[in-house]
Amino acid sequence: MQGDAYLKCINPQCGLEYPIENTNVQCEKGHLLDVKYKNKPSPELKEVFYKRRNSEGSIFNESGVWRFRELLNFCQIDTENIEECSKYLVSLDGAEGRQSKPYHMSKAADFIGISNDNLWLQPEGYNPSGSFKDNGMATAVTHAKMVGAKKIVCASTGNTSASAGMFAANEGINCDVYIPAGQIAPGKLSQAYQFGAQIVEVDGNFDDALKQSLDDAQNHDGYTVNSVNPFRIEGQKTIPFRALEYLNWEAPDWIVYPGGALGNTSSCGKALMELYEWGWIKKIPRIAVINSEGASTLSDLYNGKFEGEELRWNKGNPNTELISRYYDHLDKEGLRPKTKATAIQIGRPANILKGLRALEFTNGVSTTVTDSEMLDGMSVVGLNGFDCEMASGASVVGIKKLMDEEIIKKDDIVVGILTGRQKDAMIPVDYHRNPENKFAKPPKN
Ligand SMILES: [Zn+2]
Repeated sequence: MQGDAYLKCINPQCGLEYPIENTNVQCEKGHLLDVKYKNKPSPELKEVFYKRRNSEGSIFNESGVWRFRELLNFCQIDTENIEECSKYLVSLDGAEGRQSKPYHMSKAADFIGISNDNLWLQPEGYNPSGSFKDNGMATAVTHAKMVGAKKIVCASTGNTSASAGMFAANEGINCDVYIPAGQIAPGKLSQAYQFGAQIVEVDGNFDDALKQSLDDAQNHDGYTVNSVNPFRIEGQKTIPFRALEYLNWEAPDWIVYPGGALGNTSSCGKALMELYEWGWIKKIPRIAVINSEGASTLSDLYNGKFEGEELRWNKGNPNTELISRYYDHLDKEGLRPKTKATAIQIGRPANILKGLRALEFTNGVSTTVTDSEMLDGMSVVGLNGFDCEMASGASVVGIKKLMDEEIIKKDDIVVGILTGRQKDAMIPVDYHRNPENKFAKPPKN
């Protein structure tokens, strides 16, 4: 398997290739990169993955990410050699992805109006730092370690900084977290502080913080772990891997995600493209991306709500000028992304092109939901004994909306991803104190 993995520009007209040790997140013409593998993994590995669920003491079998290590073997190691795994693969003692798998949640199914047998919800909040980010951070920090990075760098308002800080602390490397000064509630950074990350305050908004973190990474030997990093996308592929494994690799009709920076959409699309090409799945599930109404870049562009053109990947020829004009329009009108679901409060999704590619491959859809709907979605998940953050509620109410519109059909099998655990304690408290809310149970005396 030596020499099997490399990086390739996603733009088919460009297609520049780089060795796997490359740490630039873009090709020299500014396009995003994919991790590519020359080999074609045998479907017989399905049996190996299943057996590893009895971990026999190996943290790399326990890990819901590294259990699938043959499908993300960019380190090009002997995956059965535990010493090599220990030397290369970054894991929080096997905890990343270990507890995440799809569950039936009958109260959510009732609310949506779908048969309980047809609905699966997969909580990624039970990852060690509390969100899906640990899937991709385990792989990004593995690559950082592989290239000898001394410091990882990210811009974040919450989940990313928690995950980056956690793995950095565990690996004994430094972590800088860039935030827009004065705009982030300190509580959202409490995990990053706890894990010893260095907070760097930047004058400006989140986009400015990201830009400065990318510049500093380039100029001061930092390693970027935001989702523009292609190795983040590799780890996040294990979210659909786990869902599919629990469905015996029989593809559902739909996989539904909240939409923010579109790293999840991109990684799900890449996972499905690879599995289909390898012959592991015969059917391609459709991806649905649920934006917040206040941060609806993908939904606006995909559905032709800006200049009347439906933006598409278009076999690698997307109309990027339309995207630029949309961003100019946001700037000109002073339109800032606005939702209480801060995890998806993103106006310029860094992975929009990979996201469009995923939607094209899967015949996907995108729509929006309101803050109030997301809170209902979050709350009904809670009534099944599962905890999730407000952005995750978008998956639940997004499924409901698409069913009401008969885009998702009654008999379709649907997997919804619940991306993170509640990190803002006051959101459910405020929700339940207001008797007007659908699922509120206000305190009594
Ligand atoms: Zn390129």
